[in-house]
Parts: sequence; structure tokens; C-alpha cells
Amino acid sequence: MKQALDSKVLSVLEDKIQLIKTEKGAIYLVGPIRLPVNLYGETVEFKWYCWLNCEEVTEDFERIIDKLSSVNLAEFQQSSVLVYGDFEYADDAIIRFHSICHTGDIFGSKRCDCGFQLKQSMKMITEHGNGALFYLANHEGRGIGLFSKAMAYVLQENGYDTVEANQGLGFVDDARNYDDAIQVLRAIRKKPVTLMTNNPKKLQALKNAGLEVSGRQPLWGDVSEYNEKYLQTKIQKSGHLEDEGTCPNE
Ligand SMILES: [Zn+2]
Repeated sequence: MKQALDSKVLSVLEDKIQLIKTEKGAIYLVGPIRLPVNLYGETVEFKWYCWLNCEEVTEDFERIIDKLSSVNLAEFQQSSVLVYGDFEYADDAIIRFHSICHTGDIFGSKRCDCGFQLKQSMKMITEHGNGALFYLANHEGRGIGLFSKAMAYVLQENGYDTVEANQGLGFVDDARNYDDAIQVLRAIRKKPVTLMTNNPKKLQALKNAGLEVSGRQPLWGDVSEYNEKYLQTKIQKSGHLEDEGTCPNE
């Protein structure tokens, strides 16, 4: 028989959990949690939130906590957000919706520019004074998953570009969805945001979802012989904007 949840555990946690109702059910957002981060050798203090999608909608958080040990969450990676400064109330805040990239973010792969964009956006947020970095765990390989991405890389080593490779495996070029991240953003900030991206489609997706976007900040860099073709495909096929002075075609 399962043991009842310790009342102290529940009382500590329930103050830090927020219920966000969605069309499919609910998002449970936990945080803020203190997260000191090593950013280019300096310790920077962020606040961290993580969220979980559930069909069950309840404000009785004990029901949700009770399920955690039996639902294998490690098999389904969750998304999270790093917040810096007075994010909720500051007039101007910059944000990034970063798609998880196992090879780029963790291993530092130079086949793409994700690792650079991740660190650079954290740096830009701290320099700006406030902002948020959403780390979207179901976006691997533009939403095709890590294993399929490995197969797409095999195709890319055989002459396919990134778009052709995803399509060759039966996927649409870009299967990413930002709905959950937008819901979370709305829960932690009410004012407009500036989006760090080179991708006008991402900007449009957020505007279509009713998000108030006050501008766009480009995020190019770390161009090398290994990712030049990948970056060119982003511009030529996926409609990414070339920003003056930072054009990867140079
Ligand atoms: Zn990447």
C-alpha cells in the first residue's frame, strides 16, 4: 500500500506550485527555485521554474505529487524556464524560446549554432538586466526527437540539407509548437517581451498566439566550416533573417 504524503512535504511544495489551465488539461508550474549558474566563469543567480503537462486539472496538488513516483517522468523530458531580474514587472524584458539540442547544448557540437545561442542568450539576458530563457524539451531536431535527428544527420552526411533530411524521414520541416511555453510566459509576466531569434516564423507563431511582442533581437554567431551549410539552409530554405554584420554567408 502506498504511504500517504507527509503533511510537511505537501505544505512546503504547495506554495511553490501554480496551476495553469490549458485546452488539453493543465500545466503545473513549480518555482521559483534559486539557481546559481556558472556563466562564462561568473556566478549568476537565476530563478528557475519547471513545468509538467497533465490531463488532470486540480488544485489539490497532493493528487499530482502522489503520481510522480509512478509515471516515469525521466522517460519524458520536461521543459523549464530560467528567469533573471525583475521579470514579472520590468517594462522591457528579453526572452528566448530555446529548442533543446542534445548535441549542441550538452556536447558543444559545432554542426549547429544551438550551444552558442543558448549561452549567448543567457549572457544577453543578464546584460539587459532581466529576461527569461525557455528551454523546450520536446523540440529536439525541430520536434522530430533525438533518434530521428541522428538519422537525419546520417542523411546530411550523404548530401541532404537539414530540411530535406527531416522531410526524407517523413516529417514536416518544422514540427515545433510553442503553446505551453506561451501559457507559462503569461503566468509569469503580463507585459510585452522582446524575442531573441533569427527566425521570423517563431516571431509570427508567438504573435498569432496573442503574445505581445515588442521587437526582435538577432542571435547569430559561432560560424565555422562545420555549420556554414546548416546556417545557409536556415536562411535560404527556412526563412531565417540575415542580420547585418553577422551574416553567416560572409
Ligand atoms: Zn543544435
